[in-house]
Amino acid sequence: MALHVWPKSDVLVAGGGPAGIIAAIAAARNGAKTLLVERYAFLGGEAATGLNIHGFHSNSEQHIVRGIPWEMIERLKQMGGAAELRFPDYQKQRMAISPSKRDIAIDREAFQYLALQMLEEAGVQVLLHAFVSDVVMEGDTLTGLVVETKSGRVMLPADRVVDATGDGDVAARAGVPFEKGRRPDEVMQPMTLMFTMGGVDLDRAVDTVGIRRALAIDPLPWQSKYMHFTLLLEQWTEELRAAFPELMGGRLIGAFTGNSFRKGIINGSTTTHIGRVDGTDAEQLSRAEVEGRKLAFRLAQFMRQHVPGFEDSYLLSTAPHIGVRETRRIIGEYQLTYEDVIETHQQEDVVALGGFWVDIHHYERGSESYVPSKGVTIKDNGAYDIPYRCLVPKGVENLLMAGRCISAAHEAQASARVMGICMGIGQAAGTALALSLRAGVSPRRMDVRLLQDTLLQQGTFLGSRFAAGEAKPPVPST
Ligand SMILES: Cc1cc2nc3c(=O)[nH]c(=O)nc-3n(C[C@H](O)[C@H](O)[C@H](O)COP(=O)(O)OP(=O)(O)OC[C@H]3O[C@@H](n4cnc5c(N)ncnc54)[C@H](O)[C@@H]3O)c2cc1C
Repeated sequence: MALHVWPKSDVLVAGGGPAGIIAAIAAARNGAKTLLVERYAFLGGEAATGLNIHGFHSNSEQHIVRGIPWEMIERLKQMGGAAELRFPDYQKQRMAISPSKRDIAIDREAFQYLALQMLEEAGVQVLLHAFVSDVVMEGDTLTGLVVETKSGRVMLPADRVVDATGDGDVAARAGVPFEKGRRPDEVMQPMTLMFTMGGVDLDRAVDTVGIRRALAIDPLPWQSKYMHFTLLLEQWTEELRAAFPELMGGRLIGAFTGNSFRKGIINGSTTTHIGRVDGTDAEQLSRAEVEGRKLAFRLAQFMRQHVPGFEDSYLLSTAPHIGVRETRRIIGEYQLTYEDVIETHQQEDVVALGGFWVDIHHYERGSESYVPSKGVTIKDNGAYDIPYRCLVPKGVENLLMAGRCISAAHEAQASARVMGICMGIGQAAGTALALSLRAGVSPRRMDVRLLQDTLLQQGTFLGSRFAAGEAKPPVPST
């Protein structure tokens, strides 16, 4: 069958999650004719499943992700669609590890609405229901992507491409090498199906169950008090053992962690882990989805039957797809290391910052963290640099990576994968491609100092050495 060919884009962004949305806005605002393609009927990626957004602040509460991502949060706040949270110190003391101090709770529908609005304002064309299934190449250059749509197979020609699919689908199909999971057995972080329950009286649950929670910094009367909470389920260990026998091989559900933006409605997460599955293997992904959906339903039933405050609750919805924390980590010109992250290494070609802890969900045990050899905390609760070279995949000239599939070691990705950081990376990728096109150079040969200057002018924070106006380090040509 002949391919239907669309008009050519300057920048084509594959994947409409947190990274892809911001990449597309950044490219268009910098003058590129931009097309964003998304396999689903909606934008948002994992942000559309009801999660809070981590990573805008370091653990010392320094505001490190700014620019377009923060503009989006400010606009959401004005719409009543986001709130800033702070975790009280008492919570830190009761946990084995030190989690983030600050968080952003969002209304997922407001997030999706605003994403469409900001893309439209920037002049980005959006193509939904379009699954990127193949690439078209001339030598080491992508000439376009092939998407499967209701119209059939469509060829989308483009000068520059961002791979923001989370799984690195574009780069993998273009033949770029990648890694998966931990060393040496490639086991990846578990998947989790997010779900939403209605009719929950969390105040009543707090009266009877141990709870940890984050507090909104500027609470509004209609907001929930429990925008991030952990209900401890230890007193129902025997009942859990009976209800979830398949989870008892060390994967005991000890807590129910969730968030609640509006009173009475909660989003459940991190409890229904499915371990040892690969989200880029069709059969394994399908199997995990089936298991996740059954677990979510049964866990909601369990909560209603046993936990005070959940007597009138019900399963309102399940996420449109099982949440995948980690799959391909595309090999780029530099791989962000575990040490880079926890020791806050500075990089000459920094284009985004990260400060989130090394958040590895236990490979086998639900609701527990795995602590790798050098720990999970970032030195001095500071921020690390994400170099431009981590966005530049090996072997393909006009492609950049954005989001959780950038070039990073397993432990480094466990920090950089959170949504605030992915959004910051998205701004860097979209801006770089628009500038490289204007300059007529391959993104690999991009003037990184020009990119940094443009990002700074457009609100990005690249660390105090830039903010203070100090001389920037020389940038080597890549
Ligand atoms: C269960 C779970 C809980 C998490 N909790 C948090 C949390 O509380 N806070 C936080 O900040 N982070 C959290 N994370 C991490 C974070 O959500 C993700 O790492 C982040 O969303 C990655 O952003 P992204 O834009 O790279 O990818 P994604 O959010 O995965 O977006 C990728 C987009 O690309 C689309 N896509 C994929 N393949 C194709 C294709 N072939 N063609 C077209 N479109 C495609 C997808 O549909 C999606 O819209 C969690 C992750 C999971 C799975």
